[in-house]
Amino acid sequence: MQCPFCRFDETKVVDSRASQPHAIRRRRECLGCKRRFTTYEKIEESPLRVIKKDGSRVPFDRERIRVGLEKACYKRPVSDEQIEGIINSVEQEVYQGFDREIPSRDIGELVFGRLRDVDQVAFVRFASVYREFKDVNDFVEELEPMLRDVDRD
Ligand SMILES: [Zn+2]
Repeated sequence: MQCPFCRFDETKVVDSRASQPHAIRRRRECLGCKRRFTTYEKIEESPLRVIKKDGSRVPFDRERIRVGLEKACYKRPVSDEQIEGIINSVEQEVYQGFDREIPSRDIGELVFGRLRDVDQVAFVRFASVYREFKDVNDFVEELEPMLRDVDRD
C-alpha cells in the first residue's frame, strides 16, 4: 500500500472495522511521513444465487428481503433500523453459510427467526406469504402459541 502523500510504500494499519457488509474501512499510517489516510476494502462478492421454488435461479438481492419485510411490517411498530438490522444479519449469515446457491426457502427461514423476536404480527404476515404450509392445521399450530401471548397483553 503506497502512501498517497509521499509515495512511501510501507504503511501500518491503525484501525480496522467493518463499514458495511462486505466492506472494511482501514485507517493507515505512513511509516515514512507519518501522515494518516483511510482505505476501503471491498470484499469481492461471490455471485451467490437464489434457487426459487420453480427451480429457476436469480442473483441474491438484499432489496428483495426489504420489500418482503416492509410489506409484513406495514403499519406495525417496527423501525427502519430494525428492518435494516434484520436484513444485515440475514445477509451475513447467507454469505457465511452458503457458497454459490441458497434455496429461497432457507432465506425465508432466516428472516422468520429474526422477525419473530421483533414483531409477531409482522412475523405471521411474512410467514403466511413465504412459508408453504401443508394444510391449514400447520398454520394454526404455528399461530396458537403467539395468539396465547397476545391474549395475555
Ligand atoms: Zn507518507
